[in-house]
Amino acid sequence: MPFTTLGLPAVLCETLRRQGFETPTPIQERSIPFVLGGADIVASAETGSGKTAAFLLPVLARLLQGRRPAGSRALVLVPTRELALQVRGVAIDLSEGTSIGCAAVYGGVGMEEQSRALRGGVDIVVATPGRLLDHAGRGATRFGGLEVLVLDEADRMLDMGFLPDVRRILALLPAARQTLLFSATMPPEVDRLAREVMRSPERVRVGNPRKAAAPVGITHAVFPVPAHRKTALITVLLRRERMDAVLVFTRTKHRADRLAKALRPHGIEAGVLHGDRTQGQRERTMAAFREGKVKVLVATDLAARGIDVEGITHVVNFDFPRTSEDYLHRVGRTARALAKGDAFTLVAPEEMAQIAKLEREIGTALPRVTLPDFDYAASPPPHQGGGGGGGGGSGGGRARRPGGSGAA
Ligand code: AMP
Repeated sequence: MPFTTLGLPAVLCETLRRQGFETPTPIQERSIPFVLGGADIVASAETGSGKTAAFLLPVLARLLQGRRPAGSRALVLVPTRELALQVRGVAIDLSEGTSIGCAAVYGGVGMEEQSRALRGGVDIVVATPGRLLDHAGRGATRFGGLEVLVLDEADRMLDMGFLPDVRRILALLPAARQTLLFSATMPPEVDRLAREVMRSPERVRVGNPRKAAAPVGITHAVFPVPAHRKTALITVLLRRERMDAVLVFTRTKHRADRLAKALRPHGIEAGVLHGDRTQGQRERTMAAFREGKVKVLVATDLAARGIDVEGITHVVNFDFPRTSEDYLHRVGRTARALAKGDAFTLVAPEEMAQIAKLEREIGTALPRVTLPDFDYAASPPPHQGGGGGGGGGSGGGRARRPGGSGAA
């Protein structure tokens, strides 16, 4: 089905065509007609499904129909600054050739420029909740005529403790508005929020909402390895696989820094992305990664939210993710849209029990892989106290353990 049959204005269809988007993704096909019809929607869509355009296209269509006197017309709330920048980028691409303006409002940078955009009543505001409230507290926001509110990645927003901020923001918005909520998963808290903020919304589900579906196009592999051999194994993998753009996840900021440092002597230059980096550092790191100057990016879950880099070939879970949702969010960074990608997970014996749980929850068996020429049993270096390993799981390594004992 081409975009033109969804009821979008010709100017947007033309932009989509120029940008090489030929057909809507399932979430776009299902939600755009509802939103164009003015309905509130609650949409569950997995990461990488094209959800950003699913809400931006009908919002743009609405904004193209006449201009209200003054003030901002659409607000998109997102959990992280990376996502704010990314959504703004898509909004700018899709609004090409129109007079619609968009500003991103997020913490870690100066207030002034954002304040000017808000006071000027920029059409679309894409914001993280905390910073937006700072501006609202200074009287900079102009939401009196706001027409559409989008809550993007609502599950993550609540996970990050933004519910009170979201409520405060809701109180600043006109009640007569359209509200769109997008979430990868639909835990009860998100459902409650949806009921609280919407009038009998349409529900749009892509995939099985009970089972968080693994994004298509991804080849998964689990590498059982003693915790203290994870760094050695990832070094081998990074060197021998054709890995052009690799996103590596660690559990903590400290472990991200430490891994990047450990890779350097092996000639692997890795960028690091986590919450302690300044906005300038993040932007430089992301630019270097996007341009292919740095092929490996080591990140924590929070920092990696919203990363949308074309052509990530591999996601490597150096540490096991805390939840299945985190696993899906992580691996969803590769195989964006309909491309292909590999997701490797390094699993220490103490993390093995979590693999079985993950497999149950995502409904996919993850093949175990062992490298024939890798020394799994090598002793830990004297200065390294075990190194890897995941929190919690006490279950023993059921899976075929390569190369002898070697438990950490
Ligand atoms: P999102 O789920 O919004 O983060 O989008 C994931 C990726 O899909 C982005 O790289 C988009 O550029 C891409 N995308 C969105 N819509 C389409 C479409 N209709 N056809 C092909 N790619 C798309």
